[in-house]
Amino acid sequence: MPTTALVLFSGGQDSATCLAWALERYDRVETIGFDYGQKHRVELDCRATTLAALRTAFPVWAQKLGADHLIALPVIGEISETALTRDVEIQMQANGLPNTFVPGRNLLFLTVAAMVAYRSGAKHIVTGVCETDFSGYPDCRDDTIKALQVALNLGMETRLVLDTPLMWIDKAQTWQLAHELGGQKLVDLIVEETHTCYQGDRVHRHAWGYGCGVCPACDLRRKGFEAFAVR
Ligand code: ZN
Repeated sequence: MPTTALVLFSGGQDSATCLAWALERYDRVETIGFDYGQKHRVELDCRATTLAALRTAFPVWAQKLGADHLIALPVIGEISETALTRDVEIQMQANGLPNTFVPGRNLLFLTVAAMVAYRSGAKHIVTGVCETDFSGYPDCRDDTIKALQVALNLGMETRLVLDTPLMWIDKAQTWQLAHELGGQKLVDLIVEETHTCYQGDRVHRHAWGYGCGVCPACDLRRKGFEAFAVR
């Protein structure tokens, strides 16, 4: 029986790499993204252009690419007071987490993804969460994902698998993984089409792609790319 995977695809570098990883591994791959009232909609625009570019550049993968689900979750933007959902500056909070952390967001994303997977018969849900060099987001932890996998399967009487191919690798290794999966062509596509910047900047183009160049997300992407480039 063909194996179907559902990839959480935000339009960023990490999820684009996860998408390529799934396309290399599974027979059929669907994508899911969320409109949750994020300040910058540029990432959502990049989803469509990245998918189109992937289809053109990788015809074998294009044959496996199935439906793209864009789910509206405005409730997150309505509830959350964060730098991604409100017009406030990015800063550290008293609890040691940056205010770019949207509480419950990944938990909700994965739960909704499991609902879609239940309907479409996808066995695998692929997400680009990572413990290695993130800002300590607790919902990116391996334990969180494993616990959620158990909870979802118990709660829905399923045997879904939550795949986290980036969990233990850093940003430089994520670029390296993209290179292994799709060569320089995929690296170039991810540089050009995907979006990471917290400020939604698609004006300034650097060697590692578009972005303001100074926000924490740009900083991580730049450092990872530079470490990958000199390997
Ligand atoms: Zn930025």
